[in-house]
Amino acid sequence: MENQNQVKAKKHLGQHFLTDESIAQDIADSLSLEGYNDVLEIGPGMGVLTKYLLKKNTTTHVIEIDTESVAYLKNNYLHLADRVIEQDFLKYDLNLVFNNKPFAIIGNFPYNISSQIVFKTLELRDQIPEFSGMFQKEVALRICSKEGSKVYGILSVLTQAFYEAEYLFTVPPTVFNPPPKVDSGVLRLKRKENYSLPCDEKLFFRVVKTGFQQRRKTLRNSLKTFNLSDNLKANAIFGQRPEQLSVAQFIELTLLIENDSE
Ligand code: SAH
Repeated sequence: MENQNQVKAKKHLGQHFLTDESIAQDIADSLSLEGYNDVLEIGPGMGVLTKYLLKKNTTTHVIEIDTESVAYLKNNYLHLADRVIEQDFLKYDLNLVFNNKPFAIIGNFPYNISSQIVFKTLELRDQIPEFSGMFQKEVALRICSKEGSKVYGILSVLTQAFYEAEYLFTVPPTVFNPPPKVDSGVLRLKRKENYSLPCDEKLFFRVVKTGFQQRRKTLRNSLKTFNLSDNLKANAIFGQRPEQLSVAQFIELTLLIENDSE
């Protein structure tokens, strides 16, 4: 089944092919497969993860931007051929395939678009109960980190507002071809039972993003553009820096801003 025409790794597509079968299996096994029938793998490359997904009791779809990888997959995984989407994950309207049904996301992701993959997942959270896969270690740790940590930031707060985030394990550069310069980390996100926020969700995103644009400043300073009343700004929460606030406190802050009246 191995094809001697291997795909040549292309740097601009973030291609680092995983060569360790047991790690591929562990990543595939990280999904619970509960609450959905469809799985979407982003960036399958030559299918090292895909072949373990295909053994499971789910319908596996893959989305891959690289024409050469797509040709390889179609030749080597005949049963998958109808479910290979040759598109850019960031641009493609996934409902052309999933039609509003729920699906899980998995992958050894292209690291150059890590944050954008997470942001698109958050936008589609109503349809994505579970997400797991490999990022650059630093990014995986950031997504899972808690308030007070140096790496706690926008990705941590926005992700953990809707998902339980769990860092699973670290993967060294030596198991990739070509090896990346950094360690990799595998994480799993499980959507919370009740994931609708008690505040205006659009405003919540704005507050978190604006707050962290100047992470060393107090929120009183960094949220100036919101034109808040003096009365509200006297509240102790505005004396904090963004990295000190838990997700629950960011929600509380959003509610305060929402109900502020001059
Ligand atoms: N999963 C494979 C390949 C990982 S490398 C493995 O573990 O070996 C990342 C893969 O993502 C590459 O195959 C690359 O072509 C693909 N990719 C990069 N940008 C993409 C995008 N915007 N949409 C879909 N796939 C993308």
